[in-house]
Amino acid sequence: MSAPALWSIRAMVAAMHAHGEEPLPDSVGGISIDSRTLTPGDAFFAIAGDNRDGHAFVESALKAGAGVAVVAASKRDTLPNNAPLIVVEDVLEGLRDLARAARARLNGKVIAVTGSVGKTSTKEALRLVLDREGKTHASAASYNNHWGVPLSLARCPGDARFAIFELGMNHAGEIAPLSQLVRPDIAIITTVAPVHLEYFKSVDDIADAKAEIFEGLMPGGTVILNCDIPQFKRMADRAQEARVGRVVSFGESEGADARLIKCMLQPDSTTVQAHILGEEVTYKLGAPGKHLAMNSLAVLAAAKIAGADLALSALALAGLQPASGRGTRSTLELPGGSALLIDESYNANPVSMRAAIALLGQAQPGALGRRIAVLGDMLELGDQSAALHRDLAGPLVEHGIDLVFCSGPEMRNLYDALPSNRRGGYASQSSALEPQVLEAVSDGDAIMIKGSFGSKMAPIVKALQRKY
Ligand code: ATP
Ligand code: MG
Repeated sequence: MSAPALWSIRAMVAAMHAHGEEPLPDSVGGISIDSRTLTPGDAFFAIAGDNRDGHAFVESALKAGAGVAVVAASKRDTLPNNAPLIVVEDVLEGLRDLARAARARLNGKVIAVTGSVGKTSTKEALRLVLDREGKTHASAASYNNHWGVPLSLARCPGDARFAIFELGMNHAGEIAPLSQLVRPDIAIITTVAPVHLEYFKSVDDIADAKAEIFEGLMPGGTVILNCDIPQFKRMADRAQEARVGRVVSFGESEGADARLIKCMLQPDSTTVQAHILGEEVTYKLGAPGKHLAMNSLAVLAAAKIAGADLALSALALAGLQPASGRGTRSTLELPGGSALLIDESYNANPVSMRAAIALLGQAQPGALGRRIAVLGDMLELGDQSAALHRDLAGPLVEHGIDLVFCSGPEMRNLYDALPSNRRGGYASQSSALEPQVLEAVSDGDAIMIKGSFGSKMAPIVKALQRKY
């Protein structure tokens, strides 16, 4: 059975001001930029990445069943004749044109999520909540950059009732054009924190870069802002300047429009009591973590504003699961017992590191077990990197982490700052730390592994799972 039509070829050609070369199908079922993962019937966009040019994969895409390939006029000569091609000036610009057409045909509510941390977690929670209310489309994975956002928008079916997009940035000036493409009815800024400090002078500058999301907001639209952070007022002021329709605050602070009243962590869930825009609700999240409770305030506020039923939305959050590598739990079967593994290896920055340390602090190890943290470098922190690593010693001690393993040159700063009885082991690279961790884990332990993606902590998770 072929996929339902996403775009007619006629609409694609018109949206991209292009011309098509026969033989063309009537329509395509999806949009792909990777010949290895495309579904037959997709349109393949030959985008140029950092290392590879999609034009080199047009033939394999067509062989894999692509209905049509969108290619640049300048590369046309290198491609076969009698192939279904749409020829444009610039392929990425063509994808953006199609994304604009996708937005123009959409009648549903559009929500955009940005922030220094928690974008994907918030987007996936929104997907879970809104999906039960009506047809919902959301960005895949963390597709949040100059190609990920137009790709996600171009993939949105015309009859979606809700569409959720993740917007990300490393530099000032990147969020505005993404927001202008998505034109959200509701924009969420999860939080602002010292990440990507290499490219910013201060956290205030990061807040200003996030606030660029207001520039694309639909007239009368709503922005949902975290009011527990020092940059809240700055962002709320920017929102007023940008004449947004409504500012909704969320957090623990007195007066928040979506306010956390109580949060109780259980081993596999979190019970939350909150006030959401005038209604009190108590609900369960299907995973433990105060940070997830904070995200859920923004999620429920957005769902309510988008027209969803609040009580049913809150109920749906019981199905929430951490995304892969963001707190996923599993049991290691050791020769003399078992241990709890918390996989946080997807990424790390000072905020998510603290959230994960707090979570490990909540874990209940077995009788002889210990709380063990295995930490890799947090990257891209610029001048403040050494201090931001060293400062984790406080939370580690406070949350009762018994043993800390560290890898990477930046983590050396933390390792040296730890009380000596909490030092488990140090190596300059994660591959050298791996055997020490495999050796150390024993019955009853709760072990959490985290670091920036580039610090390669995921292989330690894999090694533990392979061995036990
Ligand atoms: P990326 O920029 O890599 O796409 P992201 O903003 O999408 O990241 P997530 O993938 O949702 O962020 O989460 C990254 C990490 O931060 C995970 O470990 C997650 O558990 C943790 N996290 C999620 N929400 C919060 C929050 N509100 N505060 C602190 N940590 C959080
Ligand atoms: Mg993400």
